[in-house]
Amino acid sequence: MSELLNDKTALITGAARGIGKQIALLFAREGANIAFTDLEDNELSQATLSEIAALGVQVRFYASDASDFDAAHQVVEAVVRDFGHLDILVNNAGITRDTLLLRMTEQQWDQVIQINLKSAFNFTHAAAPVLMRQRSGSIISLSSVVGINGNAGQANYAASKAGIIALTKSVAKEFGGRNVRCNAIAPGFILTDMTKALPEETLKQFVTMIPMRRGGEPEEVAKVALFLASDLSSYVSGQVIQVNGAMA
Ligand code: NAD
Repeated sequence: MSELLNDKTALITGAARGIGKQIALLFAREGANIAFTDLEDNELSQATLSEIAALGVQVRFYASDASDFDAAHQVVEAVVRDFGHLDILVNNAGITRDTLLLRMTEQQWDQVIQINLKSAFNFTHAAAPVLMRQRSGSIISLSSVVGINGNAGQANYAASKAGIIALTKSVAKEFGGRNVRCNAIAPGFILTDMTKALPEETLKQFVTMIPMRRGGEPEEVAKVALFLASDLSSYVSGQVIQVNGAMA
């Protein structure tokens, strides 16, 4: 069977667990070499490293804070040095600090914007010159359905994810002439540690709002990332693909 990402190098931020990890594993199964980041070099990141290595591709982990501009540039430099090239960037690192707006602290606002939105800018800024020189590349950023619809209790998170969409559409226009594509994925309710932290009652309520009557699996988001990373989407850029079981 042909592999969709043979000879490609993919860099995925915040991939020690969750959606990022499943994207890394699926890309590796499709033949890509994998560079991934997360905040700490710990058991989680080492386990992910071993699982990817077991698939027989080249893999490296970089402990790095994606919201740090200089650190992001250093990671991209290291990836190009270690792998020889970079073809796919997935801006996945993200956090929530949920609360109603009137209770939201300045710190909760700043942290979420800094980690969710600025990280995507940092890595896009660092990777773009490499991809543009090659005249090929795919940038994929994780937005969210709440970045499209808004959500009570998530003004900071929703604003950061709406920002991802505007960033994506803008750079798609800037880089299109160099054959660098840029798209966003807007997942709905996906079963990861991020959502498992929600109270049981909130979890149940979410599921009743989903026409497909279940949360999504991280692998189901990874399959859309694979489409956007590969030549299957060679004329798709500046788009937001929702992966949400028909949740409006
Ligand atoms: P997760 O919390 O399971 O994983 C996020 C990973 O990012 C963690 O490993 C964490 O350590 C890492 N990370 C956090 N801050 C970082 C930083 N500054 N630098 C580097 N790494 C950092 O979350 P997830 O559910 O897998 O979410 C992945 C992405 O998908 C996020 O951007 C999230 O906002 C988005 N998303 C998730 C859902 C969902 O329902 N789970 C829905 C919509 C969008």
